[in-house]
Amino acid sequence: MDCFKTYYDFLVSENEKYNLTSITDYNEVTIKHFEDSLALGKAINLSKVTTLVDVGTGAGFPGVPLKIVYPHLKVTLIEPTGKKCVFLNQLVLKCDLKDVIIVNDRAENCSSLRETFDVATSRAVGSLSMLLELCIPLLKVNGVLVAMKGPDFEEELKGITHALNCLHASVVRITPYELSSGMGKRTLITIRKNEATAKEYPRPFATMKKKPL
Ligand code: SAM
Repeated sequence: MDCFKTYYDFLVSENEKYNLTSITDYNEVTIKHFEDSLALGKAINLSKVTTLVDVGTGAGFPGVPLKIVYPHLKVTLIEPTGKKCVFLNQLVLKCDLKDVIIVNDRAENCSSLRETFDVATSRAVGSLSMLLELCIPLLKVNGVLVAMKGPDFEEELKGITHALNCLHASVVRITPYELSSGMGKRTLITIRKNEATAKEYPRPFATMKKKPL
């Protein structure tokens, strides 16, 4: 069975019901969603990773394409919108994916998942500073966050020094890449968690927004 074909067909057929994506053309979905999700493998060696969390996965990007290509991964998808979780649960059954946990909640509420994952990732969810606060607490010490960003990441990167200090994390790699068929430039920012996270993080979402680290 071609999981990506099943994924595409289901994404497009359920899109109206669940408001999953603005991209529905086959080529565009293949490149901007599937290929882009799999680009995470350019930043880290996923064959050596066991547990991965995708924060704000929406319709499953990048977590589900990664699970399809790296079936050994134990993937947790965090998504607060209930109807997107309904879609994800059905998709996982359709593609017969094992070891995928879908958590219908906001990342900052997932205290039972603290210090659990080797890798955290997130695409199109928030500023780098906010992603750090949402994702770093979920990582084991020495785990990495791979933030998926566009080409204009420099300004955001300059603004995260305080967040990195508060969360005991450091930037280890910047990986620029280009999608096929000229569909855009992207950047992976790999950030390592160096020490356990203080209990005060993550702060409530309203505080994170009002007073970013
Ligand atoms: N990652 C997917 C992608 O790249 O297509 C979805 C991106 S969508 C623009 C942002 C998603 O982040 C939404 O599905 C939203 O519900 C989720 N989200 C927003 N705040 C969140 C939070 N605090 N914790 C977890 N997910 C969150």
